[in-house]
Amino acid sequence: MQQVTANAFTDTTYRGCNPSFVVTSDGVVVIDTPQLPTKAVEMRRAAETHGPIRYVINTEHHVDHIFGNYYFRGTGPVVAHVEVSRNFMLASQHPSPYWYAKEALPTDDPDGAAIFPDEETYYRDPNRPSITFSEDLTLRVGGHTFELMYTPGHTVGQIAVHVPEERVVFTGDTVFCECQTWLYVSSVDQWLASLDRIARLDVDHVVPGHGPVTTKAYLAVQRAFLMEWVTVVARGIAQGWSKEECIARISFADRFPVDVGQGYMMDHIQRENVSALYEKLTAGRRP
Ligand SMILES: [Zn+2]
Repeated sequence: MQQVTANAFTDTTYRGCNPSFVVTSDGVVVIDTPQLPTKAVEMRRAAETHGPIRYVINTEHHVDHIFGNYYFRGTGPVVAHVEVSRNFMLASQHPSPYWYAKEALPTDDPDGAAIFPDEETYYRDPNRPSITFSEDLTLRVGGHTFELMYTPGHTVGQIAVHVPEERVVFTGDTVFCECQTWLYVSSVDQWLASLDRIARLDVDHVVPGHGPVTTKAYLAVQRAFLMEWVTVVARGIAQGWSKEECIARISFADRFPVDVGQGYMMDHIQRENVSALYEKLTAGRRP
């Protein structure tokens, strides 16, 4: 794994989110779990060489951040916002999170197939959050502080994890660094406010949900990209374009690649981002 600071580690190199952990004097705190089974098992092993895992924190409910919880059963409790708990691996989501995790195996983790649970086994104990909160929550573990900050926008239960002793913040998908931003279920207004909140932290390192580790300077890039998305779709609407016309004419595919392993989702991301923004921006003017 990549060592970000003396005690903070992450991995930005494989499909899924950037799973991370922080080593304290009283064990390890995991922040998001690898979606790919073999990577989840490897990361648990790597974390446990530093001591017992005290907590597993999830920054959001999307499958790429929580599916790997399954491989952390029997470690410390899972901590997340109450909305993560409510939306955890719901089969009603599209695409179905369980199948999306399974679909990644042949291309990204063929060895993972042997330890991938069937659906019934998985849902019997997916290692859901057992400690939840609705605003902010602070954990003290050994000599470290973990400020779990409610930063909604990308998803309803989004949090960032600030570890002041390491001068680092793990933002989850409030930041997609140098890769495509997925904003289907987002509230962009809330997202911008959350970026401002993170910008006020006194930190040297920003570990994003996807893409390489960065600094606070990148928060302005993320902010601008969200605003561009909204502006371009709003302009399409102002020109009288229908939703389908907006989808056909608007794309930011040339701006950034998709994060590792999901290049095939590029058109889907463009379409769903336009569609979601069109729905939000026109909602107030429909009878
Ligand atoms: Zn993600």
